[in-house]
Parts: sequence; structure tokens; C-alpha cells
Amino acid sequence: MTSPDGPVEGTRHVLVADDEPHIGRIIQMKLEAGPYQVTLVPDGRAALDRLQSDEPIEVVLLDIMMPHLSGLQVLEEARKLPHRRDTPILILTAKGQDADRIRAMGLGATDFFTKPFSPKKLMARVDACF
Ligand SMILES: [Mg+2]
Repeated sequence: MTSPDGPVEGTRHVLVADDEPHIGRIIQMKLEAGPYQVTLVPDGRAALDRLQSDEPIEVVLLDIMMPHLSGLQVLEEARKLPHRRDTPILILTAKGQDADRIRAMGLGATDFFTKPFSPKKLMARVDACF
């Protein structure tokens, strides 16, 4: 089903949460050059609101350091939602600390990578979720 304003059939929906607008836009441009439609939100609360809704989201990219809720808090809450339990969630962070990686994996992250990342590598990681 498609509508003039609705999602294009065959695209996959990606929720991207990052509080740095230029990073969010780079991710959005790269993924939307491929078979993805990106919803970009600037903080953890907005990300969790989207995840609690019934909108189709096939992959989630979460920055860790964000206002209101961190990416790890969003991840933890998302895994409590029955309809998001198996959704691939990739964690992005500038910190790159082992503790973050271990925590993210313990909370059910699908993958983890550190900024700066190449857009090509990002696309490959998202593609790998399918
Ligand atoms: Mg951040």
C-alpha cells in the first residue's frame, strides 16, 4: 500500500537518533541514496516515542550521548517492547569505550560502531541486518 505522502513500497524504514544534526544528515543522505527511508530524531526521548508507536521501523541507529535519554537507555526500553524485541538496533558512539560496547551488547544491541565511521561502512552494516 502506498499513498502520495506515505512510504514508498519496497523501502525499509530506519529510525536514526543523533543529537548532532550534521551527523544525522550524513547518515540520512547515505541511507536514502539506497533502499532506505530515514526518520531522523534529535534525542533519546523522541526515539523512544517512535519506538513505542506502531509505525514500521526495520532498523534503528542510536547515538549513545543524547539529551533526555541516552542511546543505551533507549535500547534497554526498546527491548522491553514486544514489537521491537527483534528489531536490529545499531549503537553509534563517539566514545568507543569498551564499557559502552559491553553494555550495549548486554542490552541486546545488534551491532556497535564508533564515530567517525565511513558512510560506506555504515551502509554495509545496515545492509547486513537483512
Ligand atoms: Mg551525541
